[in-house]
Amino acid sequence: MSTDHEVIIIGAGVSGIYQLYRLLEMGIDVTVLEGGDAPGGTWYWNRYPGCRFDSESYTYGYSFSKELLEEWNWSEHFSGQPETLRYLNHVVDKFDLSKHMQFGCKVKSAAFDDEASTWTLTLEDGRTISTRFLLTAIGMLSAPTMPTIEGVEDFKGEAFHTYFWPQEHVDLKGKKVGVIGTGATAVQLIAEIADKVDELTIFQRRPNWCAPLNNSKIDEKEMAEIKSNYDEIFQKCHDTPGGFIHGPDRRKFNEVEESERLAFWEELYDSPGFGVWLGNFRDVLVEEGANAAFTDFIADKIRLRVDDPATAEKLIPKDHGFGTRRVPMETKYYEAYNRDNVHLIDINDTPIERITPKGIKTTEKEYDFDVIVYATGFDAITGAFDRIEFTGVGGRKLSDKWIDGPITYLGLQTAGFPNLITIAGPQGGSVATNFPRGIEEAVDWATELLKYLREHDYNRVEPKQDAEDEWTEHVKHTYTYSLLGNSKSWFTGYNSNVEGHNKIRYMIYNGGAPRYRQRLTEVAANGYSGFDVR
Ligand code: NAP
Repeated sequence: MSTDHEVIIIGAGVSGIYQLYRLLEMGIDVTVLEGGDAPGGTWYWNRYPGCRFDSESYTYGYSFSKELLEEWNWSEHFSGQPETLRYLNHVVDKFDLSKHMQFGCKVKSAAFDDEASTWTLTLEDGRTISTRFLLTAIGMLSAPTMPTIEGVEDFKGEAFHTYFWPQEHVDLKGKKVGVIGTGATAVQLIAEIADKVDELTIFQRRPNWCAPLNNSKIDEKEMAEIKSNYDEIFQKCHDTPGGFIHGPDRRKFNEVEESERLAFWEELYDSPGFGVWLGNFRDVLVEEGANAAFTDFIADKIRLRVDDPATAEKLIPKDHGFGTRRVPMETKYYEAYNRDNVHLIDINDTPIERITPKGIKTTEKEYDFDVIVYATGFDAITGAFDRIEFTGVGGRKLSDKWIDGPITYLGLQTAGFPNLITIAGPQGGSVATNFPRGIEEAVDWATELLKYLREHDYNRVEPKQDAEDEWTEHVKHTYTYSLLGNSKSWFTGYNSNVEGHNKIRYMIYNGGAPRYRQRLTEVAANGYSGFDVR
């Protein structure tokens, strides 16, 4: 049966852009359906003040084109959102990709026709469009969640989730602003706006262990050096578990004498980026004792930086050790709490009762605000899938199959949903890495799979049940590899605002990028073992 396209990609973010490039290179008939009005995905939507990379800029750009690497100059070690969005638009323009993208196209549902082995998508505007292969590049943090607090609709001032920060300038000067949440997003936002607003009140449920980003500008000379070192930089990312330039120090914490250990920790604390988290002694994220020692070190840093001891104690997490949830990187976040106009409300002491027309009411008092910001995070990874109704073989819904957590083979396909390839899907390795590094590998792999199918005149691919069962068990097992496996955070699919997600779900392959890559390579080399191709 003929279809409108051979391939449809949903999403024009970091993965969708690269996937489109690779398929066009192969001469495949492909279109991208994007819900936003322009490309960029996460960097198109997240426009809140302070939004920036926590990855080194030059490790976040695509590596596939030497010319692109050569011509693009990053202005900061950790660039801000406007620059990243400019970069992605530059890539789209350079490779003339936008003519293959359809914007403002929200996919409502996708149904598989078992006889024809094709997918038919229905868009929110009622149109339908068919394809042989459907590739999802829908992001892992693209389904923002609001808190389930009564009265959210009642507030008369301005209110937004950080993901939906308005495109036009929001003037916060002289305003009373309330922020709910203290994750990586809130930490960037709070530090950025503390000295720009009249009053800033933060409603914190659980504090996070944050560490300094230590960002700085990149001048022309340094950018030239970076360009001449790109091969080395990408090789380093390639070799580390997280796809960053930071990999674990091979020493164990107690193999190192105390003075040397402390000097190393001071150096990490003062160095740029995730080194403090991912470049630490190799047992710090694995063994309770080593973790507790580093946790104490960081707690003391917070006590040193926050003037009021009671506020400092509120900002120090007591329910989890350093790095067992995603570490928010900050620039003068803790110092914001030394300002007279910044107030920290621990909602464990005084819970929020409701949002009112004028502001937020806790059990203690009502706070009046001009603006309320919901920095309350995302229904991670599977959330974006749940917003599209995928119907597979025999009318089975993907949301039903994944109701207790995702079930996949390699994080790239799920049985009963042939020809659906989930780039950056749950249980994949790329979602646990410096995103573009992992994503380039997933996209390259999916592209080779499509090439293989084409060369062999196959029109259908789906995982075998036993392969899927084995992978899903294996992914669960990878949660025992480090202390992150027990944390209540989006890494484990935990979200208190989504029914059924108030528990640990196995969302991510935690075995590290090199092992994931090796597995993908073996599967392909063995004629796509574990897949049923016809
Ligand atoms: P998040 O880490 O999930 O944080 C959400 C915050 O909202 C938490 O503090 C959470 O408290 C709080 N919250 C949620 N529901 C609440 C409720 N009903 N009442 C009170 N508080 C509530 O989300 P995020 O900060 O948006 O970050 C998500 C991820 O995005 C990050 O981990 C990171 O991977 C990515 N990100 C990346 C960058 C970057 O690269 N530069 C920047 C920002 C974000 P609990 O902790 O108690 O649940």
